[in-house]
Amino acid sequence: MKKIPIANPYIEKSDAEEVRKTITKGWITMGKKTEIFESMLSEYLNVKYVVAMNNGTSTLDAILSALNIKQNDEIIVPDMTYISTANVAEYKKAKLILVDCDKSTYNISVKDLIKKISNKTKLIMVTDMKGMPVDYKEIIKISKKNKIPLIADSAESLGSSYNNVKIGSQTLAHSFSFFANKNITTAEGGAVVTNSIKIYKKLICIRNQGQKGRYNHVMLGNNYRMNDILATLGIQQFKKIDKIINYKNKIAKIYNSKLQNVVMVPHLPEYVTRHSWYNYTIRVPKKLRNRLINFLSKNGIETRISFPPIHTQPYYKKKLSKSNFPNSIDAYNTMIDLPIWYKMPMKDVNFICNKVINFLDKNR
Ligand SMILES: *Cc1c(COP(=O)(O)O)cnc(C)c1O
Repeated sequence: MKKIPIANPYIEKSDAEEVRKTITKGWITMGKKTEIFESMLSEYLNVKYVVAMNNGTSTLDAILSALNIKQNDEIIVPDMTYISTANVAEYKKAKLILVDCDKSTYNISVKDLIKKISNKTKLIMVTDMKGMPVDYKEIIKISKKNKIPLIADSAESLGSSYNNVKIGSQTLAHSFSFFANKNITTAEGGAVVTNSIKIYKKLICIRNQGQKGRYNHVMLGNNYRMNDILATLGIQQFKKIDKIINYKNKIAKIYNSKLQNVVMVPHLPEYVTRHSWYNYTIRVPKKLRNRLINFLSKNGIETRISFPPIHTQPYYKKKLSKSNFPNSIDAYNTMIDLPIWYKMPMKDVNFICNKVINFLDKNR
């Protein structure tokens, strides 16, 4: 039986050829290719500074270091996010304050955020879940009013736009990831983008063991360097980003039109003027969800339930004080990510829609 994967990186022969050239030419660690990759990102996102690193988690950690986050600092973290958003705060021994998600966007709930801010809050972290920008205008208002810095885990939203501005310049620093299942990939990789020269200077130092001048270490850093082999792949991948996102938008349009009468399809607020469609997520009643997943799987269709809420993770469950997250629990129990990737045949998209419709017809 034919299998339809949930995601599928798009790497061409010419990408591999460029990587081969870099390897055989001799300079394989961080160098010129990394710089070119950074300047491509900077131009695309219209931000002043870009610091490429070895993965997305490193970029988040480096941002917290640059902002001097310390033990017991209260940090706002979305409950609905990938584990790394929480882990980097935990590594600093900061106090995580989890915030419930919004019912329909999976992004941080502005209402719950307002409730959880205190005079001890040192930082607000948000995540553009599934590639959908958070409501930056509202959250920036809260951040300014309370004089709390705001940063974003934008790992999934490269190429998305908020009110016609690409994600990357809305907050003090945005973190991106180029992991294999992201819209463009360097296998492992990440980048911080910022318009703050102060943060930029710290980040380039932190990325390279806190070094300023050879073997002169002025602050605590780490080895978070990108390398030129992966940056070469990044340069090649970057040329395709709009093609990839436009294609995914076409898939999403078909899913939306065929499925909107049978399941809950993604809700796009007006401020989302472009969606990267990292994931396409539908919602079905809890009692049918796992059965639908099995049914699709039997038909060769791979699906995913994305990240369990942070407060349910065994490591955090024991440590965090009790709080309620009704929206993130409900989302987690009812969502399914459907396959969406560049060059996925449109007949497969239609096949998936028909299978979902068949299943729900039989089980209403
Ligand atoms: C992919 C991702 C990251 C970073 O992952 P790395 O594997 O470290 O590159 C962080 N947050 C979210 C929401 C992600 O999807």
